Order: sequence, then C-alpha cells, then structure tokens
Amino acid sequence: MKILFVFAHPEPRSLNGALRDVAIEELKAQGHEVRISDLYADGWKSEVDRADFPSLAPDGRFIPVAASKKAFDTNTLTDDVKAEIEKLLWADTLILQFPLWWFAMPAILKGWVDRVFAYGFAYGVGEHSDQRWGDRYGEGTLAGKRAMLVVTAGGWEEHYAPRGINGPIDDLLFPINHGILYYPGYDVLPPFVAYRVDRFDEAGFEPVAERLRERMRTLATTPTIRYRPQNGGDYLVPSMQLRPELSEPDATGFALHLNGAGAAG
Ligand code: FAD
Repeated sequence: MKILFVFAHPEPRSLNGALRDVAIEELKAQGHEVRISDLYADGWKSEVDRADFPSLAPDGRFIPVAASKKAFDTNTLTDDVKAEIEKLLWADTLILQFPLWWFAMPAILKGWVDRVFAYGFAYGVGEHSDQRWGDRYGEGTLAGKRAMLVVTAGGWEEHYAPRGINGPIDDLLFPINHGILYYPGYDVLPPFVAYRVDRFDEAGFEPVAERLRERMRTLATTPTIRYRPQNGGDYLVPSMQLRPELSEPDATGFALHLNGAGAAG
C-alpha cells in the first residue's frame, strides 16, 4: 500500500517521535511505500490568510471559501498545499499522528487540514440541490481510501471511557474522524490511542509499541467505523436529518451517525 504519514509533534525525540519511528519501521517491513509530512520539521504554515491566494486582488475582500474554490479551480493554490494534495491523491491510506492537546489536534495539524482540504477537493464536491447535498460523508474525492488516527493522551483510559469525566474518546475524536476524514470520503479505521503517557518509561513503552505495530500490520484488514453514508437513504434531504424511524425518538449525539451496530473493530 501507499501510505501518507502526517506527523504533528515539535520534538523528534518525544514519545510521539519514538512511536512514529516504530510505526514507519513496521510499515516498511510490511513492504508498504511510505511518505511523511512532518509538519513542524517542514515549517508548515498553519493559518489560512491572504498569502494562500496570490491571485486575490490586493484590495479585494478576502472570503476564504470563495478564494479556496477559485484557487483550486484555477490551479493557483500555493505550492506547499498542492504538494500535500498530490500526496493525498497518491496515498491509499492516510495516518495522522499527534498528541491530544486540549482535547483536540495541535493547531499546526488543524492548519494543515484548513489549508489542504480545499473547496472542490475535500468539500463542495458533487451536485448540490434540493435532491442531493453533494458527495460527502462516505463519498467524495478521497472515497475508497483508508484513514486512521494515532493519538497520545496524558489522561487515563478510564477518564475517556463512556462514563469518564473527559467524555468518551470516540466522541472527542468524532469531529476529526467523521467531520474531517469521513467527510471527503475516507473509510475511517478505529483510532490507535495511547493513554496516560506522561509518566511513560521503558517498561511502559514496549507494550504500546507492540500494539501500534499490530495496528500497522492490520491496516488493510481492520474493519472501518460504520458511519452512515450521507447518500444511502438514512438522511432526509435537504434537512440532512437522520430519518426518525432509524433511532429512538429522544436519541441525540454522535452515536446516531453510526450504522446500527456501532463502531466495528
Ligand atoms: P513526551 O513528553 O515526549 O514523553 C512522555 C513520557 O514518555 C516521558 O516520561 C518520556 O520520558 C517518555 N518517553 C518518551 N519517549 C520514550 C521512549 N522512546 N521510551 C520510553 N519512554 C519514552 N492530555 C490529555 O489527555 N488531554 C488533553 O486535553 C491534553 N491537553 C494538553 C495540552 C497541552 C498544550 C499539552 C502540552 C499537553 C496536553 N495533554 C493532554 C497531555 C499530552 O497529551 C501529552 O503530554 C502527550 O500526549 C505526550 O506525548 P509526547 O510525545 O509529547 O510525550
């Protein structure tokens, strides 16, 4: 397989750096081709601003969505963004690795998404009408490819359990897994999460490294999370609400968007 590995930690000698090396070594041992976007090392520019759209008139009002659409349509996105898009199209699997910072991805990785997932590429794809709300959530440019998160967290696993005070990890990662990865078409694998990592030592490292190696060995076969596809009939158009008969009347929350039996794997 062809794998794009996006790494978002500022220190190569960190735990994240060590886990990245473990993952990449295993992927290469399995015969996969791996390309790496090391965002801090590459000096990735994380904020969206006018400099992203050189063709924008200097005195023109900057409307990010419109500017993104025009730049994608006219092939005038900046070279760094174009290079990432080329890698995403090349890869059949995307891995995003990061430490959980304030219950989210580090800003540099969010900025990678903001800039690379352009209009016409990752969103605004397909027919938009009263009958159809585009190709997204299971369809789109990146459909047929797989994606997976590799995350480290300071908190205990229990703190992220269904009744844990931090909230369930599947809920916290839903905006990334569903909103960023499933949206442009990826089939999303259950995340790899290493908990309680801040007091890690040699003894703690090896079992986690082995668990990660196993996930790298089973990338192609691990069942993906069974999100409901947008255009499979489960949602009313154009309100994009889940059909009432598909859930308990008072059910709410992210789990509604799992297809019945919940996450696989
Ligand atoms: P490092 O600091 O590099 O290492 C962690 C430990 O592992 C150290 O004890 C180190 O000695 C050891 N170690 C490193 N490499 C190895 C190795 N090769 N072998 C053995 N041991 C090793 N956590 C949450 O749960 N939720 C949050 O919302 C959250 N928000 C945060 C916000 C910020 C701004 C920050 C800085 C931290 C936050 N944390 C949070 C904690 C954060 O998730 C962890 O600090 C992070 O995941 C640790 O990863 P690291 O690569 O930086 O670890």
